Amino acid sequence: MIIVSACLIGENVRYDGKIKPCKSSEFKKLIEQNDILPFCPEVEGGLPTPRAPSEILKADGRGVIKGEAKIVNSKGEDVTEFFLKGAHKALEAAKKHNIKAAVLKSKSPSCSNKMIYDGTFSKTLKQGVGVTAALFEQNGIKVFDENEIEAFLS
Ligand code: SF4
Repeated sequence: MIIVSACLIGENVRYDGKIKPCKSSEFKKLIEQNDILPFCPEVEGGLPTPRAPSEILKADGRGVIKGEAKIVNSKGEDVTEFFLKGAHKALEAAKKHNIKAAVLKSKSPSCSNKMIYDGTFSKTLKQGVGVTAALFEQNGIKVFDENEIEAFLS
Protein backbone atom coordinates (compact mmCIF):
# COMPACT_ATOMS: atom_id res chain seq x y z
CA MET A 1 0.00 0.00 0.00
CA ILE A 2 1.10 3.58 -0.65
CA ILE A 3 -0.16 6.83 0.81
CA VAL A 4 -1.19 9.45 -1.75
CA SER A 5 -2.13 13.12 -1.39
CA ALA A 6 -5.93 13.06 -1.47
CA CYS A 7 -6.08 16.04 -3.85
CA LEU A 8 -4.20 14.03 -6.50
CA ILE A 9 -7.08 11.58 -6.76
CA GLY A 10 -9.60 14.41 -7.02
CA GLU A 11 -10.87 14.68 -3.45
CA ASN A 12 -12.18 18.15 -2.62
CA VAL A 13 -9.50 19.04 -0.06
CA ARG A 14 -7.41 21.74 -1.76
CA TYR A 15 -7.10 25.14 -0.10
CA ASP A 16 -9.00 26.79 -2.97
CA GLY A 17 -11.81 24.21 -2.95
CA LYS A 18 -11.10 23.28 -6.57
CA ILE A 19 -10.88 19.69 -7.71
CA LYS A 20 -7.76 19.04 -9.76
CA PRO A 21 -7.01 15.32 -10.00
CA CYS A 22 -3.71 14.22 -11.46
CA LYS A 23 -4.56 12.93 -14.94
CA SER A 24 -1.20 11.63 -16.15
CA SER A 25 -1.04 8.12 -17.54
CA GLU A 26 1.69 7.32 -14.98
CA PHE A 27 -0.62 8.30 -12.13
CA LYS A 28 -3.43 6.17 -13.58
CA LYS A 29 -1.02 3.25 -13.75
CA LEU A 30 0.06 3.91 -10.16
CA ILE A 31 -3.46 3.71 -8.78
CA GLU A 32 -4.28 0.68 -10.91
CA GLN A 33 -1.22 -1.23 -9.72
CA ASN A 34 -1.22 -0.33 -6.02
CA ASP A 35 -3.49 -0.19 -3.01
CA ILE A 36 -3.89 3.50 -2.25
CA LEU A 37 -4.50 5.28 1.02
CA PRO A 38 -5.63 8.84 0.13
CA PHE A 39 -4.78 11.35 2.85
CA CYS A 40 -4.88 15.14 3.24
CA PRO A 41 -2.79 16.27 6.21
CA GLU A 42 -4.23 19.79 6.24
CA VAL A 43 -7.84 18.65 6.43
CA GLU A 44 -6.99 15.86 8.89
CA GLY A 45 -5.15 18.45 10.97
CA GLY A 46 -8.37 20.40 11.36
CA LEU A 47 -8.31 23.04 8.61
CA PRO A 48 -11.45 23.72 6.55
CA THR A 49 -11.89 23.58 2.77
CA PRO A 50 -11.66 26.08 1.24
CA ARG A 51 -9.04 27.81 3.39
CA ALA A 52 -6.55 30.63 3.03
CA PRO A 53 -3.27 29.48 1.44
CA SER A 54 -0.38 28.99 3.85
CA GLU A 55 3.40 29.20 3.57
CA ILE A 56 6.30 28.26 5.83
CA LEU A 57 8.28 31.24 7.06
CA LYS A 58 12.09 31.32 6.77
CA ALA A 59 12.55 27.55 6.75
CA ASP A 60 10.90 24.37 5.53
CA GLY A 61 8.99 21.48 7.07
CA ARG A 62 12.10 20.20 8.84
CA GLY A 63 12.39 23.51 10.70
CA VAL A 64 8.71 23.38 11.63
CA ILE A 65 9.12 19.88 13.11
CA LYS A 66 12.09 21.09 15.16
CA GLY A 67 9.95 23.94 16.50
CA GLU A 68 12.20 26.50 14.83
CA ALA A 69 9.78 27.79 12.19
CA LYS A 70 6.12 28.58 11.83
CA ILE A 71 3.47 28.47 9.14
CA VAL A 72 1.12 31.35 8.51
CA ASN A 73 -1.79 31.78 6.15
CA SER A 74 -2.34 34.71 3.81
CA LYS A 75 -4.38 36.44 6.54
CA GLY A 76 -1.36 36.35 8.86
CA GLU A 77 -2.80 33.67 11.15
CA ASP A 78 -0.43 31.13 12.68
CA VAL A 79 -1.59 27.70 11.49
CA THR A 80 1.50 25.73 12.51
CA GLU A 81 -0.32 23.47 14.96
CA PHE A 82 -2.81 22.30 12.29
CA PHE A 83 0.02 21.34 9.93
CA LEU A 84 1.90 19.48 12.65
CA LYS A 85 -1.21 17.65 13.80
CA GLY A 86 -1.99 16.61 10.21
CA ALA A 87 1.56 15.43 9.62
CA HIS A 88 1.54 13.27 12.75
CA LYS A 89 -1.86 11.82 11.81
CA ALA A 90 -0.50 10.99 8.35
CA LEU A 91 2.50 9.25 9.91
CA GLU A 92 0.24 7.33 12.28
CA ALA A 93 -1.91 6.18 9.34
CA ALA A 94 1.17 5.16 7.34
CA LYS A 95 2.60 3.18 10.26
CA LYS A 96 -0.73 1.47 10.90
CA HIS A 97 -0.70 0.15 7.32
CA ASN A 98 3.06 -0.52 7.24
CA ILE A 99 3.43 1.94 4.37
CA LYS A 100 6.96 2.58 3.13
CA ALA A 101 6.33 4.97 0.23
CA ALA A 102 4.22 8.01 -0.55
CA VAL A 103 3.26 9.96 -3.67
CA LEU A 104 2.54 13.50 -2.54
CA LYS A 105 1.61 16.76 -4.23
CA SER A 106 4.43 19.06 -5.29
CA LYS A 107 4.85 22.64 -3.98
CA SER A 108 2.60 22.12 -0.95
CA PRO A 109 3.71 23.31 2.52
CA SER A 110 2.49 19.92 3.78
CA CYS A 111 3.18 17.51 0.96
CA SER A 112 6.04 18.74 -1.23
CA ASN A 113 9.24 16.73 -1.29
CA LYS A 114 11.53 19.34 -2.85
CA MET A 115 10.17 22.85 -3.55
CA ILE A 116 7.89 25.06 -1.46
CA TYR A 117 6.75 28.68 -1.58
CA ASP A 118 9.12 30.95 0.27
CA GLY A 119 6.85 32.56 2.84
CA THR A 120 6.42 35.87 1.01
CA PHE A 121 3.11 34.96 -0.70
CA SER A 122 4.59 36.17 -3.99
CA LYS A 123 4.44 32.79 -5.82
CA THR A 124 8.20 32.42 -5.34
CA LEU A 125 9.47 28.88 -4.91
CA LYS A 126 12.53 27.81 -2.95
CA GLN A 127 14.13 24.48 -2.16
CA GLY A 128 12.55 22.76 0.82
CA VAL A 129 10.07 20.12 1.89
CA GLY A 130 6.62 20.28 3.43
CA VAL A 131 5.90 19.26 7.01
CA THR A 132 4.34 15.87 6.26
CA ALA A 133 6.98 15.04 3.66
CA ALA A 134 9.71 15.90 6.19
CA LEU A 135 8.14 13.74 8.89
CA PHE A 136 7.77 10.85 6.44
CA GLU A 137 11.40 11.09 5.37
CA GLN A 138 12.55 11.20 8.99
CA ASN A 139 10.62 7.99 9.60
CA GLY A 140 11.90 6.01 6.62
CA ILE A 141 8.96 6.58 4.27
CA LYS A 142 10.21 7.42 0.79
CA VAL A 143 8.41 10.41 -0.74
CA PHE A 144 7.85 10.95 -4.46
CA ASP A 145 5.82 13.70 -6.09
CA GLU A 146 3.30 13.37 -8.92
CA ASN A 147 6.04 14.11 -11.46
CA GLU A 148 8.24 11.25 -10.26
CA ILE A 149 5.85 8.34 -10.67
CA GLU A 150 7.91 6.77 -13.42
CA ALA A 151 10.82 6.56 -10.94
CA PHE A 152 8.46 5.12 -8.34
CA LEU A 153 7.12 2.46 -10.70
CA SER A 154 10.53 1.39 -12.02
FE1 SF4 B 1 -4.07 18.19 1.22
FE2 SF4 B 1 -1.49 17.76 0.58
FE3 SF4 B 1 -3.29 18.07 -1.34
FE4 SF4 B 1 -2.59 20.14 0.17
S1 SF4 B 1 -1.29 19.02 -1.25
S2 SF4 B 1 -4.68 19.56 -0.45
S3 SF4 B 1 -2.28 19.13 2.13
S4 SF4 B 1 -3.25 16.41 0.16
